[in-house]
Amino acid sequence: MSTATLAPQRAIPITATQLLINNRWVNAASGKTFPTINPATGEEICQVAEAGAADVNAAVKAARTAFERGPWRRMGASERGRLLNKLADLIEKNADEIAQLESLDNGKPYQVALAADLPLTIACFRYYAGWADKIQGKTIPVAGNYFCYTRLEPVGVVGQIIPWNFPLLMQAWKLGPALACGNTVVMKPAEQTPLTALRIGELLLEAGFPEGVVNLLPGYGPTAGQAIARHMDVDKVAFTGSTEVGHLIMEAAAQTNLKRVTLELGGKSPNIVFADADMDKAIEGSHFALFFNQGQCCCAGSRTFVERKAYDQFVERSVDRAKRRTVGDPFSPDTEQGPQVDQDQFNKVMSYIDAGKREGASLLCGGSRVGDRGYFVAPTVFADVQDNMKIAQEEIFGPVMSIIPFDSLDEVVERANNTIYGLAAAVWTQDITKAHAIAGAVRAGTVWVNCYDVFDAGAPFGGFKQSGIGRELGEYGLQQYTEVKTVTVALG
Ligand code: ADP
Repeated sequence: MSTATLAPQRAIPITATQLLINNRWVNAASGKTFPTINPATGEEICQVAEAGAADVNAAVKAARTAFERGPWRRMGASERGRLLNKLADLIEKNADEIAQLESLDNGKPYQVALAADLPLTIACFRYYAGWADKIQGKTIPVAGNYFCYTRLEPVGVVGQIIPWNFPLLMQAWKLGPALACGNTVVMKPAEQTPLTALRIGELLLEAGFPEGVVNLLPGYGPTAGQAIARHMDVDKVAFTGSTEVGHLIMEAAAQTNLKRVTLELGGKSPNIVFADADMDKAIEGSHFALFFNQGQCCCAGSRTFVERKAYDQFVERSVDRAKRRTVGDPFSPDTEQGPQVDQDQFNKVMSYIDAGKREGASLLCGGSRVGDRGYFVAPTVFADVQDNMKIAQEEIFGPVMSIIPFDSLDEVVERANNTIYGLAAAVWTQDITKAHAIAGAVRAGTVWVNCYDVFDAGAPFGGFKQSGIGRELGEYGLQQYTEVKTVTVALG
């Protein structure tokens, strides 16, 4: 494992640090700014305008005007698709620079941002660009002499609150379907990672989106985020983040105007390895399932269940793989793992490692900080983890693997489902019957068989239970951004 020695920070141009309201870059009404930090060094990158309730009001007003009176809803649906495609082209043209900015602000390895986050972001915008002119209602054969049809109309002004783990991608998952359907948007990026969202704002202007269609408000959750969730003129709020804040968003909607709510929340996803699996693939795949993105994935395979017959071998080889994981400068080409996103997340991960040790799990590697600056955590593996331990129940959101033995299929299904979450699951086996049995029995929105974290803009993603409400991506993602209107016409 390499240590966190950092190359001198690259000169990455940062041109957008204000709020985007009604296609204009403005300071916050309060004049406040906040620092965004480079997690690899702990140093400030720059100051960013800090939106508050007054800015949310201004942005909602702009979005409402754009929705009711602007050219956005009147333009042909294919024209909305053309604008989304143009945005995708501009992101592609600037992909290298945007990947650098993502890495600088979030800490994820630049190579990963370039190879994964950017292409998935571009593909998502293109996918929804294709849908823009294919969002169709139905004709319904009702009784009597009537012509009945449905229209799928945009919901209206949509508030979107996104997290810091995949800043660009979460922005695309939210903007793509909302804009394809003709909604207007007030979006708050996470306070840890505002820079790429604002850079995309520049490209939205360059692409030619009309005034007020997308408004971007960097700022904090309890202030700007709450103001969006409580706003009486926001028709829907789409949120990705912690289950705890998901509850607050629903409460805010319930207490105000019953705005529509879609939530993509936390997880504690079971990754189930049978002894008959292709072990090379299962070990590497399980390592990826947990450690990808510094372990900061809502769908991380954070309960690694391994059939007892293969347990010792799996543990030994997984520890060996984790020890070989390269941690360090996000801009170094060999880096697999950068820092956690901020001091709070670093502290949280370290406290879970302490809890694992205290509760008697076997710490086989890692468990400590790497380097003396930034928020780097050594890849950590615990074995002999019991279902009732804190590290097996709560979302750690860091590079901490928990390996848990099991004996039979029925038993592992029951234990896998014994959680408040239901976002994702995976099974590794060469027996097709077992694979389908698990896929059918696990209560989760996504099940991967002999793979993990395979995403496509066309494949819906979202949670059962307290992992969320609604789905993103695919056709299901679109449905969440439309209202169905039934029109019945008397035929004389
Ligand atoms: P995490 O704990 O991983 O940072 P959060 O759920 O706190 O996840 O944050 C996800 C997003 O929700 C961020 O944009 C954050 O600013 C926002 N947020 C946090 N608290 C609130 C809140 N009370 N109301 C609305 N948005 C919030």
